[in-house]
Amino acid sequence: MTLIVNAEVESTPGTDVRIVGSRITEIGRGLAAGTAAVVDARGGALIPGLTDHHLHLHALAADSVSIRCGPPQVHDGPALAAALESAPGDEHGWVRGVGYIDTVAGDLDAAALDRLHARRPVRVQHRSGAMWVLNSAAIAATGLAAADHPGVERDASGAPTGRIWRADDWLRERLPAGRPPALGAVGAELTRLGITTVTDATPDLRPGSLTAIAEAVASGEVPQRVHLLGAPLAGAPLHPRMSVGPYKIVLADSGLPDLDALAGAIRAAHAVGRPVAAHCVSRESLLILLAVLHEVGTLSGDRVEHGALVPRETIADLARLGLRVVTQPGFLAHRGDYYLREVEPRDLPDLYRCRSLLDAGVPLALSSDAPYGPLDPWAVMAAAIAREAPTGEVVGADERISAAAALAGYLSPAKDPGGPARQIVVGGEADLVLLHVPVAEAWAAPAAELVRLTVIGGHRYPAP
Ligand SMILES: [Zn+2]
Repeated sequence: MTLIVNAEVESTPGTDVRIVGSRITEIGRGLAAGTAAVVDARGGALIPGLTDHHLHLHALAADSVSIRCGPPQVHDGPALAAALESAPGDEHGWVRGVGYIDTVAGDLDAAALDRLHARRPVRVQHRSGAMWVLNSAAIAATGLAAADHPGVERDASGAPTGRIWRADDWLRERLPAGRPPALGAVGAELTRLGITTVTDATPDLRPGSLTAIAEAVASGEVPQRVHLLGAPLAGAPLHPRMSVGPYKIVLADSGLPDLDALAGAIRAAHAVGRPVAAHCVSRESLLILLAVLHEVGTLSGDRVEHGALVPRETIADLARLGLRVVTQPGFLAHRGDYYLREVEPRDLPDLYRCRSLLDAGVPLALSSDAPYGPLDPWAVMAAAIAREAPTGEVVGADERISAAAALAGYLSPAKDPGGPARQIVVGGEADLVLLHVPVAEAWAAPAAELVRLTVIGGHRYPAP
């Protein structure tokens, strides 16, 4: 039992909240402590726990033991070669790099990677998460030349170029055997940030990945509730803190998807009652998704992931079709200067839209896409409010949203992203965040350091 006293709750200061088991049982003033553990909020805000509506648990865990291959740590080829050389490598001698972009050492392939590091097998992931590049030692070790996966890029002679597109699970099976990376550190970091629920957006989770997530949830390594977009259409091993969400579909970032295949995938998910969560980063992929949804119809809960480019003329269509958008303005804070230089000027107003979607009545949820975007929800909220690039330039001033709207982007339930914000009510789940300061102060300068205590299912996790 926990009694939180003197908190600001739903803008009422001096409020006490009693938690028994996993539920809120009483809200009022001057509640008797009895045998409960008392937490004096000292006027700090008590808000519902945050939901990160799109991240990748195992990629986050793997990311923390990988070397950085892009800005801000690495800016050019010599720096990348040095980073690869000094990487300790895993127990099989492999080096795993993440965060590469072409501005570092050009269009990377096996030959280019060999020039940077040939001594050990190396795999480097593009910052988008869509592509891996293997050097020659890694190509040999994985038997890539004989592989039959369509994601294995080949040159005119049929030899692998070293680039592998959207085939993470397939690639993992060809790497030296290892268990999926442990999730305990990720769970602790999420808790520190005030996140009580996550949506794992990894497509087509393999049984081994699913089981590992379920085990980490059951053991408490991941204390959060976990909503899965990559659970198979037919059943999945679940813990009571886990749930199955819309079915993740990836529309290619470049090139045109097969319309019939896309329509078929959407119909198959809808047929078993699963809405779809469609990865759409480019203008073309969103237009194609909308065209196909007009043909096959929508299901309540269908969502667009990222919406990195939402052309103005599609906004009314998104609203009409009842689609919701799960987006990541945190990318602006990390890469906004790159966007300002590299994105076509006509596309800039369409980048990571927020305000125009809300104004049009499109439900909008915020998320990190971590490890590809910054995980910290407070930093993402700050980015949604200010839309400042690392250089301080503002990217899409018209798309800035209020602090209240930014927080609401993290307060809708995992099962209703962009829906009404969860509230602190008697009978509700005790998934809560206690801040050091009242909400108005937090809004003035959102920061993870403001989190004092996270409560998940009634369990207290004080910030370290
Ligand atoms: Zn993602």
